[in-house]
Amino acid sequence: MLGPPGAGKGTQAERLARARGLPKISTGDILREAVQAGTGLGLAAKTTMEAGNLIGDDVMIGIVRERLDRDDARGGFVLDGFPRTVVQAAALDGMVDGRGPLVVLDIVVPEDVLVRRLATRRICSKCGVNAAVEWTGDCQNCGGTLIARIDDSVEIVRERLKIFLRQSQPLVDYYSPRPTFRSIDGNQPPDVVTTRIEAALDEAARSATL
Ligand code: AMP
Repeated sequence: MLGPPGAGKGTQAERLARARGLPKISTGDILREAVQAGTGLGLAAKTTMEAGNLIGDDVMIGIVRERLDRDDARGGFVLDGFPRTVVQAAALDGMVDGRGPLVVLDIVVPEDVLVRRLATRRICSKCGVNAAVEWTGDCQNCGGTLIARIDDSVEIVRERLKIFLRQSQPLVDYYSPRPTFRSIDGNQPPDVVTTRIEAALDEAARSATL
């Protein structure tokens, strides 16, 4: 699933994964967990993430390769936050070779809407889940406290969007000629986006097997 920070990728990937009984693999979540756990990866990634910059391709490719090799990903998976560069996309093609079609859903949202959404976004400090807009009080998943992400502050959001825009066009150019590429209008209520994603996924997967 492609799209800028704040496009709703995390929420939509979560819903899709649940509906299809697949693991949701979010590279941002994996990195945030590593930072919280204080592992070598976490210590190395912390400063880069807090500045809104991207972690190196080799590290990210290694993380995803290892994750996709696990048993629960054998029947498919929903990727959120990866690939972010053409180098990562090319590596992903190698990883999924012979594993069925790779459907690419690009969630498109205007920039001013993204900045507004990111400024109000909250995640759980305990389980890391994205808070739904209607949640007031604590996390409805685990009871943890809801907090803003450090990298969602206004200046860092601008930096992340700038990086995204620089990287996203080559990625879209890389994928868009494929019959399994679909653009989704993400500036819609979440349930509408979910319905469109479900339909686009089925249709794209069908076109890949024709
Ligand atoms: P996200 O939760 O997807 O917005 O990711 C949060 C941060 O993790 C990003 O701003 C990057 O610093 C890092 N990150 C996550 N996924 C990747 C990736 N595929 N390539 C490079 N950096 C990543």
